[in-house]
Amino acid sequence: MAAVLLEGKTPAQRITAECAAAIAQVQQRYGVRPALCAIQVGERPESERYVAQQRKLCQAATIDYTLRQLPADSSEKMLQALIGELNARPDVNGIIVQMPLPAHLDNKRVTAFIDPAKDVEGVHSENLGKLILNRQSLAPCTACAVIELLTSTGMDLYGKEAVVVGHSEIVGKPVSLMLLNRYVTTSVCHIATSRRGLLADHIRRAEILVVAVGKPQVIAGDWIREGAVVIDVGINCVAGKLVGDVEFIPAQERAAFITPVPGGVGPLTVAMLLRNVVIATQAQLEPNA
Ligand code: NAD
Repeated sequence: MAAVLLEGKTPAQRITAECAAAIAQVQQRYGVRPALCAIQVGERPESERYVAQQRKLCQAATIDYTLRQLPADSSEKMLQALIGELNARPDVNGIIVQMPLPAHLDNKRVTAFIDPAKDVEGVHSENLGKLILNRQSLAPCTACAVIELLTSTGMDLYGKEAVVVGHSEIVGKPVSLMLLNRYVTTSVCHIATSRRGLLADHIRRAEILVVAVGKPQVIAGDWIREGAVVIDVGINCVAGKLVGDVEFIPAQERAAFITPVPGGVGPLTVAMLLRNVVIATQAQLEPNA
């Protein structure tokens, strides 16, 4: 029997509605709207797309959105000064630095300048560190989306076998920590697992499979365990069409649940950004709540 499609749209609508209600409450109680400020250094077509998407999302959610643009040759000091100014402003609740930065700037050093309380992408070391301590507050949006989709299946996660393919700081590593925090037995695979020819063996054991690689069909459909939950984070453009990392049709025949690409993790990631803006704003306005 073909797997149930785990579409992101329905949970994304629910989360967006929950955020709208929380934002209305903030406005009523404090007379302010949450405010998100994005920083863009130089011009890149994909950054322009993200900025347009963020602006639209914020408008719909009644979040104030501002874009601060710096020239492509800006120094780290200039960026640090701008982030410092935004950190100090009580009327800015969230800060996003559009990545990747121009090659002369170090993404990780720049991220470290953001006040962790305003780090709505959950990428500051303090927020990532909280995942290790199981004290999650602001966490990477895509990883949160993966967990939300997994939870939406109603599966009891306790003691399940999970395999996460990909160990990036924004997806693979935080997802693995979030699974561990839920007592899931978690293996993390990456390029070296593949090069040793061990990827298929790991995946055949997975009751939960999360793939965040960025290579089409890196996961063969017949590797999928019968009845598995498959969350495909990958986004690849093949012959003008968006596809994930998993060979979809045969995987769908074996899995119990599978995310489509597009339409799975993507729409929910965006909703998680809204949720993080709300969490950050509430924590700043009500530090003892
Ligand atoms: P990354 O490029 O930072 O990391 C890729 C990971 O894949 C690494 O751990 C690498 O070791 C591993 N890898 C590479 N080749 C492999 C192979 N042959 N076998 C096994 N592992 C291999 O990736 P990222 O930033 O986490 O993004 C991964 C994918 O997820 C990309 O397609 C990206 O576009 C997508 N993505 C989607 C969303 C969303 O909202 N849907 C958000 C973030 C990233």
